[in-house]
Amino acid sequence: MTDISKHFDVIVIGAGAAGIGAARTLFDVGVSVAVLEARNRIGGRAWTTNAGTQWPLDMGAGWLHSADRNPLVAVAENLGFEIDRNTPPWQKPVHQAGFSEQDHRSFRAAQDEFYERLEAAAKEPEDRAAVDLLETDNPWNALIDAVSTYVNGTELERLSVKDFDNYHATEVNWRVERGYGALFEKIAEGLPIRLDCPVRRIDHSAAPIRIETDQGVFTASCVIVTVPTNIIASEALKFSPALPYKHLAAAHLPLGYDNKLFLELDGADEFEPDSRIFGHHNRVATASYHVRPFGRPLIEAYFGGHLARDLEGRGLEGFAHFAIDQLAAALGEGIRPRLKPIAVSYWASDPFAGGSYSHALPGHWEKRAMLAKPVGMHLFFAGEACSLHDFSTVHGAWLTGLQAAADAMATLRR
Ligand SMILES: Cc1cc2nc3c(=O)[nH]c(=O)nc-3n(C[C@H](O)[C@H](O)[C@H](O)COP(=O)(O)OP(=O)(O)OC[C@H]3O[C@@H](n4cnc5c(N)ncnc54)[C@H](O)[C@@H]3O)c2cc1C
Repeated sequence: MTDISKHFDVIVIGAGAAGIGAARTLFDVGVSVAVLEARNRIGGRAWTTNAGTQWPLDMGAGWLHSADRNPLVAVAENLGFEIDRNTPPWQKPVHQAGFSEQDHRSFRAAQDEFYERLEAAAKEPEDRAAVDLLETDNPWNALIDAVSTYVNGTELERLSVKDFDNYHATEVNWRVERGYGALFEKIAEGLPIRLDCPVRRIDHSAAPIRIETDQGVFTASCVIVTVPTNIIASEALKFSPALPYKHLAAAHLPLGYDNKLFLELDGADEFEPDSRIFGHHNRVATASYHVRPFGRPLIEAYFGGHLARDLEGRGLEGFAHFAIDQLAAALGEGIRPRLKPIAVSYWASDPFAGGSYSHALPGHWEKRAMLAKPVGMHLFFAGEACSLHDFSTVHGAWLTGLQAAADAMATLRR
């Protein structure tokens, strides 16, 4: 006999931006839906915490990228969330000792020229690694590569030119003052979400689809899978029968590595709000420091690529040690006692993420479409990696969730 408390028209796997987008859409039109989430919280890689402070800290996503066409801006405002429209630090000149206005202009010019070469290379028939487009001996190569670790989560060596070129951004970037993750907690209010419910296997050999979890077996007419690519690639979540081409697609769209460290800054007033400091200008393994986000007495350090992954093994102390050394080199030794580490993320070792956001490996830019394609008319895929032009973002994930919900509804109507 079917346990009706465990049978739904649609089951959504994962309560991140894509999963919540899908579930909200279905629930609001009266479809019987449930979300199964492995963690004990919702939001996935959009997660706001306060770590015992008075400030909402976004440990994952923080920016409403392409904000002038980002549907979550209206969603946030309708729910009473204030949007901060100030210019982001990376679009302002850097003021720091050892990095003159001239250096800044020269770096910007080198970076613009690199992106122009990349855009031209993307039109060639063969895909290649973005590192090929660096000029030999350009003094800004390391910093250009460091920026790739922040933007793509990976060094240029592992970045597909065609995939990077497919990302469409309007360069308008805003923020949710109370936190991007907090917005998702609000959007998800009232949705039927089972927490602490990792899904281990999806048996789609017959209808209804069987979903095996740590809380027993669920069944559904349609399933929307929104877990990160690393979860599919590592087979932490299995399909029966197996879906080798989904596995292949996910393995070629790995999550990169990015982490954030928040430091409290004593006597912050002397620093310009929302300004930026680079740790080093001549090495890839360097952090970028967002000083006084929202004018708060904080520094948000951003680590990317191998540096972000490697520091995880050394914990909060390791991240803080690295950051404070870099800040002391940039701002003087007097800054050390004024900095207090308060929180750090560990996205690479997180068992339900395994990294920050997806990039395509060179030669594999077409894998996003392969990952996104439904299996028959009952098994759908969503999540940032499935977005063709807004991958690696929250709004990209959200939009794929809305699409999967529409596809599932079309199946149910049949
Ligand atoms: C440090 C960092 C900074 C970022 N900055 C930005 C930014 O400024 N702007 C931006 O737009 N994006 C940013 N991103 C990217 C953004 O957070 C993601 O692209 C987006 O949140 C992904 O949403 P998703 O729904 O696809 O996946 P997720 O948020 O990962 O949701 C998937 C859900 O599935 C769950 N899950 C995993 N395995 C299982 C399982 N077996 N069973 C059940 N559930 C499972 C997970 O716990 C998770 O809740 C950032 C990410 C990081 C890590």
